[in-house]
Amino acid sequence: MLNYKYIVVGAGIYGSVIANRIASVLNEDVLLIEKRDHIGGNCYSRIDEETGIEYHCYGSHIFHTSDESVWKFISQFADFTNYRHKVLAISGGKAYFMPINLKTLSDVYQRAITPAEASDLLAGERKDAGSAGNLEEKAIALVGKTLYEKFIRGYTAKQWEKSPRDLPPDIISRLPVRTTYSIDYFDDLYQGVPRDGYFRMFEKLLSNPRIHVMLDTGFQSVRGSISPETKIVYTGKIDEYFDYVYGNLEWRSLQFEYEIHQVRDYQGTTVVNYTDADIPYTRIHEFKHFHPERRTVFESNRTLICKEYPKTWNKDREAYYPVNTKANQELLERYRMLARQSPNTIFGGRLGCYRYWDMDKAILAALNCFETQIREH
Ligand SMILES: Cc1cc2nc3c(=O)[nH]c(=O)nc-3n(C[C@H](O)[C@H](O)[C@H](O)COP(=O)(O)OP(=O)(O)OC[C@H]3O[C@@H](n4cnc5c(N)ncnc54)[C@H](O)[C@@H]3O)c2cc1C
Repeated sequence: MLNYKYIVVGAGIYGSVIANRIASVLNEDVLLIEKRDHIGGNCYSRIDEETGIEYHCYGSHIFHTSDESVWKFISQFADFTNYRHKVLAISGGKAYFMPINLKTLSDVYQRAITPAEASDLLAGERKDAGSAGNLEEKAIALVGKTLYEKFIRGYTAKQWEKSPRDLPPDIISRLPVRTTYSIDYFDDLYQGVPRDGYFRMFEKLLSNPRIHVMLDTGFQSVRGSISPETKIVYTGKIDEYFDYVYGNLEWRSLQFEYEIHQVRDYQGTTVVNYTDADIPYTRIHEFKHFHPERRTVFESNRTLICKEYPKTWNKDREAYYPVNTKANQELLERYRMLARQSPNTIFGGRLGCYRYWDMDKAILAALNCFETQIREH
């Protein structure tokens, strides 16, 4: 029998923040169960043995927030560098800054463009948009045909392995276009990456002796040994918890292919998007650019890159992005009704709530969950 008052399932950022709060604030023991062989969930990073380069194992992760309480909380566990993320998109062999901004527009239209001209230009382009009955029509309604064809059509088709004309419009809500020359990818007040790596940040978050971590352990393999009195915070997939009784929620998955190159610098920046349909991957990550301050590794004549390929999700693949359709939201609602009948289990995190959250939003949700559903009870 697992005799714990509190069990947290999943050592991602949500589960780790909850475990930290139970141990540090309530001074109670907590068992943290994780099915992978490491803590950190999708934010996990490790050092590549051959090159010494730290890489983010589930895609590039940049910490960014404008929420002071989240920044104060997470800064207890990591010192952040002043890394500012910049993303380039290669389209037709030329490089443009993303998200679309005045520099991008000036490069596309081959002249300097003022904020007022950009607004007029976009309004003119949007004029002929159709009824937004599919993703293509909605994207054209948001940014116009020129930008859609250059930056969105090919990239979206690769992301979803489908023509944007065959995709529902509700999977995008907005496509940001900035009418300034700011080329930083994020606008947030606080940004950076942990100076000593995400893995160290998680080690610190979980360093309280009251936190007992069990790796390589799926919840399903131990659920029979958990007392009905135990309070469980479950950050795995909500449909999996209920054995997919109503069927499965849809996700998009990714495949990462790593390559070591014998050059000091492969692409000159951390992330480059490839928007043309004939290039099979959507992004290339070059991890050494996250840490130019690690001089020896940064200057060495070797680099580690990773090509990112979108994939259809199935139960053998990692679930990365929820698919925001009406059918999935209705299915989620049915699982939520079941969840209400399990009062001792709290469903949290991106998998338990079936939503995309950046790290700061996941931390905020975990802190709120602790205050309202654990500390108060
Ligand atoms: C490609 C990509 C890039 C991203 N980049 C950024 C970024 O730059 N900045 C940013 O702020 N956010 C980024 N994010 C979002 C970030 O990854 C999430 O906010 C964060 O991972 C959410 O944490 P979580 O704890 O909810 O989920 P997860 O990190 O997925 O953790 C859940 C954990 O639960 C475990 N688990 C699941 N089921 C079970 C089970 N049955 N038994 C035991 N364990 C189980 C899993 O193995 C996992 O370790 C990105 C996401 C993706 C997909």
